[in-house]
Amino acid sequence: MAFAGQCACGQVKVAVKADAPVATRQCWCRQCQQLAAGGPTHNAIFDAGDVTVTGDTASSGWTAASGNTLTYYFCPSCGTQVYGQSSARMHLKTVRIGVLGATPALRPQMAIWTAEAPEWAMIDPALERHAGQPPAPVIAKD
Ligand SMILES: [Zn+2]
Ligand SMILES: [Zn+2]
Repeated sequence: MAFAGQCACGQVKVAVKADAPVATRQCWCRQCQQLAAGGPTHNAIFDAGDVTVTGDTASSGWTAASGNTLTYYFCPSCGTQVYGQSSARMHLKTVRIGVLGATPALRPQMAIWTAEAPEWAMIDPALERHAGQPPAPVIAKD
């Protein structure tokens, strides 16, 4: 299986050649709530070499509590979030599930930074939960 999608205006296109994501997460950190209009971001993490992004992207970012830099890329025309990348894990790209489409293979497995979620947040109890940053995902390739 591979994954593909585009931003709301179609200017940015994403293609992923992996069979499955390394990990899928929803993130409730404050910055993600700001990016996602109050909810969490939904993310599929892939080996960076498996992700091809075409079209112009703009970027911004922040410095995490860990001291690592989080850079996120978005379409400068329509504002759709495309992917993010951590300076500590440049071998991974965190693709926003919204740009790929919500296929069953991209169902979130984990909710992270739940300590920062609003009290009215609806978090699926079936998800593995982390109050803050979880351990880095391990790439298993067969
Ligand atoms: Zn766009
Ligand atoms: Zn976040």
